Amino acid sequence: MQFHDSLITLVGNTPLVRLRNVTAGIQATVLAKVEYFNPGGSVKDRIALRMIEAAEQSGELQPGGTIIEPTSGNTGVGLAIVAQQKGYKCIFVCPDKVSTDKINVLRAYGAEVVVCPSAVDPEHPDSYYNVSDRLVAETPGSWKPDQYSNPNNPRSHYETTGPELWEQTEGKITHFVAGVGTGGTITGTGRYLKEISNGAVKVIGTDPEGSVYSGGSGRPYLVEGVGEDFWPSAYDAEVTDEIVAVSDKDTFQMTRRLAKEEGLLVGGSCGMAVVGALEVAKRLGPDDVVVVLLPDSGRGYLSKIFNDEWMADYGFLEDTSSSPQVSAVL
Ligand code: PMP
Repeated sequence: MQFHDSLITLVGNTPLVRLRNVTAGIQATVLAKVEYFNPGGSVKDRIALRMIEAAEQSGELQPGGTIIEPTSGNTGVGLAIVAQQKGYKCIFVCPDKVSTDKINVLRAYGAEVVVCPSAVDPEHPDSYYNVSDRLVAETPGSWKPDQYSNPNNPRSHYETTGPELWEQTEGKITHFVAGVGTGGTITGTGRYLKEISNGAVKVIGTDPEGSVYSGGSGRPYLVEGVGEDFWPSAYDAEVTDEIVAVSDKDTFQMTRRLAKEEGLLVGGSCGMAVVGALEVAKRLGPDDVVVVLLPDSGRGYLSKIFNDEWMADYGFLEDTSSSPQVSAVL
């Protein structure tokens, strides 16, 4: 019989899919690493597993313990699945800009979710960073993975995502592109690819306009899961050769194109990363192989990015083929 004894062994080993249509006019091969094939539906299953197993080994997480983490959703799902398999409780703290779809998913896995205002400074007592610290102090047997500073976040990508890409491309990858949130994906994957290729692979980060990685002040943007208003220690700026800043409008329009033109129903940070990847690929030739990592599925964003009314309210529908079609139908 062929079966998995636990969802845990299904984490990682996600496929590469060539982008065939949004790449019109581009000579380089552009491949997407589609992370929604992970059991929790996102790239974050990788770090959840690695962080929990490391905490078990170090004794920071004891049997029956409670995992408490500020998360925009995907890390929560990964942690919730691994915790469920291993018998831990979970409490997640989210900013209020996170879609209700994502929050309901966390609650479905049996986790407790505390929602905090996103319009306050990180130092404010109600910020989601501070609320989670307070909960950890008040809850006996609790452990906070802290994906922003946990070395097992980048390490999981150094040990899995990086080697997978090198093997899947038979060492032909020339450029790696990923969105930067905690910085774990780009730091771990990028470091591995640079080491194995003796520095030949170029590593390009993408972040929302206004975020610190591309020189902004942390001003708000709507794309979820990427961009920061501080520099987390999970991110090593030495690994990235370049950061491409992308507007919300370009991000969300590309996200919709990926569903329509490539059959990839993915999240907003995926659209952002693809805008960056195409920006880079435009300058390259036929021997170049660009891999862009797509962190999650579009299912968690149906009421936002894939909702014409929401897109129109922000002026994001202009200049796309979908708006005239919609008014014709109405
Ligand atoms: N996209 C989404 C949807 C995410 O949840 C995250 C994680 N915050 C990222 C991209 C960025 O990945 P990383 O934290 O590894 O930089």
